[in-house]
Amino acid sequence: MTQLNNQLHAILDHINLAEQQAERLPNSVQLLAVSKTQTADVIRQAAEAGQRYFGENYLQEALIKINSLEDLQLVWHFIGPIQSNKTKNIAANFDWVQTVDRLKIAQRLDNQRPSNRGKLNICIQVNIDNESTKSGIAATALFELAEEISQLNNLLLRGLMIIPTHTDDPLQQQHSFQQAQLLYKQLAEIYPSVDTLSMGMSGDMAMAIAEGSTMVRIGTALFGMRHTTDLHHPSDNK
Ligand SMILES: *Cc1c(COP(=O)(O)O)cnc(C)c1O
Repeated sequence: MTQLNNQLHAILDHINLAEQQAERLPNSVQLLAVSKTQTADVIRQAAEAGQRYFGENYLQEALIKINSLEDLQLVWHFIGPIQSNKTKNIAANFDWVQTVDRLKIAQRLDNQRPSNRGKLNICIQVNIDNESTKSGIAATALFELAEEISQLNNLLLRGLMIIPTHTDDPLQQQHSFQQAQLLYKQLAEIYPSVDTLSMGMSGDMAMAIAEGSTMVRIGTALFGMRHTTDLHHPSDNK
């Protein structure tokens, strides 16, 4: 408990410092705690320490945790790859989906969103470095998809999510972040609901914040190394 509490506050301090160094407003960057493979009990401890936003990648694993933590009224973000047969449960159980990269998935989420849950918040995942192995829409196709999503009544377009190429070259990484920021600003000019640029993870949050991130997704820096054997469901990750 205390250790998780300490880690949480160390990360919040780190975010505040990065905001200051980038001359950004205090609290302009949200912390999304990436809790994949962590138990419901650990998430409850993080919630008791003050964290409200959690990200999950694997649907079956997430549903168990969302159910058992219902009393806490947390805000759940789906951040894993999405297969069509998963959209119904995602639409019914999550508050945000950050990994929408094609119209078919957006349409299913829109159709399947229960009316009593309000609009489902959507970030479009952009494949910012054009990697053949990575999910996300090409930057050139982003604006067409955004327009289509903006017309779906049960979805609310909130912004972009990116995962840059893993690289040891800080300049290349900065370039990816800058490209994302440019797209984000263009999108925000068209759609007033757009206020979220989800970029930055444990290893690169300061640079992401310097380049305009409004939400960092932090797993290992908060919870420590992931346990990949017990809760991880590789079949979800297709
Ligand atoms: C696992 C994951 C993270 C968190 O990564 P860490 O390096 O553990 O902070 C962030 N975003 C996505 C999409 C992830 O799958």
